[in-house]
Amino acid sequence: MSHAYPDTQLLIDGQWVDAASGKKIAVHNPATGAVIGHVAHAGIADLDRALAAAQKGFQVWKNTSAHERQATMRRAALLLQERADAIAAVLTQEQGKPLAEAKGEVLAGVGIIDWFADEALRLYGRIVPARRSDVLQQVVKEPVGPVAAFTPWNFPVNQIVRKISAALATGCSFLCKAPEETPAAPAALLKCFVDAGVPAGVVGLVYGDPHEISSYLIPHPVIRKVTFTGSTAVGKQLAAMAGAHMKRCTMELGGHAPVIIAEDADVELAVKAAGAAKLRNAGQVCISPTRFLVHSSLQKQFTESVVKYFESVKVGNGLEADSKMGPLANPRRVTAMKALVENAHAKGADVLLGGKALGDAGNFYAPTILGNVPLDADVFNNEPFGPVVAMRSFEKLEEAIAEANRLPYGLAAYAFTRSLKSAHQLSQQVETGMLWINQPAVASAEMPFGGIKDSGYGSEGGTEALEAYLIPKAVSIAMV
Ligand code: NAD
Repeated sequence: MSHAYPDTQLLIDGQWVDAASGKKIAVHNPATGAVIGHVAHAGIADLDRALAAAQKGFQVWKNTSAHERQATMRRAALLLQERADAIAAVLTQEQGKPLAEAKGEVLAGVGIIDWFADEALRLYGRIVPARRSDVLQQVVKEPVGPVAAFTPWNFPVNQIVRKISAALATGCSFLCKAPEETPAAPAALLKCFVDAGVPAGVVGLVYGDPHEISSYLIPHPVIRKVTFTGSTAVGKQLAAMAGAHMKRCTMELGGHAPVIIAEDADVELAVKAAGAAKLRNAGQVCISPTRFLVHSSLQKQFTESVVKYFESVKVGNGLEADSKMGPLANPRRVTAMKALVENAHAKGADVLLGGKALGDAGNFYAPTILGNVPLDADVFNNEPFGPVVAMRSFEKLEEAIAEANRLPYGLAAYAFTRSLKSAHQLSQQVETGMLWINQPAVASAEMPFGGIKDSGYGSEGGTEALEAYLIPKAVSIAMV
């Protein structure tokens, strides 16, 4: 099957343009390794124009009524829905995930935009009783200002959708440095907002050298808020820069999600929910289930069942209808998987399934299951970001909770138990931003999405996500 793949331009002041220098970056298909297109590489001159446009766009958008912002966003969501098939095909070619997952990502984006659009109508301030009867005290919520967003390649559409939706709902303008490796789906997303009638400058899109762009945008006086999704290492650098320049900041970083399968768990449910979720996007998900902590009495049953499930998953080019898992998004990830598996094996873990790259072309890696993994193996400490399950057994729930809390990460956690008492204990004692019990992750627009510890701070869901783009202004009026 052949699909068209577009070249990607920058979006500056409502216009799709090449970089002033004419510089471009090649885009590869991770399933074949072939160059499929190019993306414009912005330089400082382009960034200066994008910043001036964001400043102008902010003045327009913050003075646009909430009802008009909501209606415009809803039109963008409708366009995204109408274009879902075409955008999914582009996304699969540049990122690798199966078409059904790509379309699911786009359609999830539609729901997120709609939810945030409607929240624009509910951004209430407060009237606070004053200490004098002739004084009116109010808390007014104002948009923070132009936002600089930095988003990664694992969910090229969805990582932007949460940020742009919260920014636009609250009246901010939005300048995004999207991933150079997967540029066309983000551009298609932003085109929906442009075509829906978002005024020039309100949304902008650039690509280039990530370090150069973040080092220029974050300190720039036009930018009032920074939002980043990516690795903890880069997040710490950007948060430090934002701190040095007193910019508001949301950081959605790495995780290492524990999956606690308690003595009274429904094992088949655990395999279906957490085992299957592990292979979603080939494991390149910040909330991917990773450290499987299985009660010793269920270890044999769980292992057999998850091995059987992984064996049934067809790995292939995401454009082929029967592919259930695509390639990894870039060759770096295959190198990382090889190193993690070799390290675990050398330290005594059993390679129960997979543990090798597949095929002659593209970045394919086999669904992999490691058993009896020692605590000091790299895979039990560093985010694998790939299709690897790492298992250990435990005897007492307290032990599993202690292991869940051992790492500096705290993004997502999963548990399976039929006991309400254990579920309650887990909800109180597991140090995490998100906990799903007896189910796979359901990352809905209306619930907070974010982490603690090295997984970052701030939220990308729920009303908390909107608050991150608002400043409470205290206004006190004495009557004269
Ligand atoms: P990386 O740390 O180099 O990059 C991660 C992301 O940050 C990329 O999108 C990259 O373009 C961006 N980035 C890198 N340096 C930047 C800078 N100075 N300024 C602004 N943006 C910058 O690693 P990678 O090889 O692309 O991905 C590997 C690791 O990143 C994964 O193992 C995973 O831990 C993490 N990651 C996390 C998420 C997430 O959803 N939280 C997404 C993608 C990658």
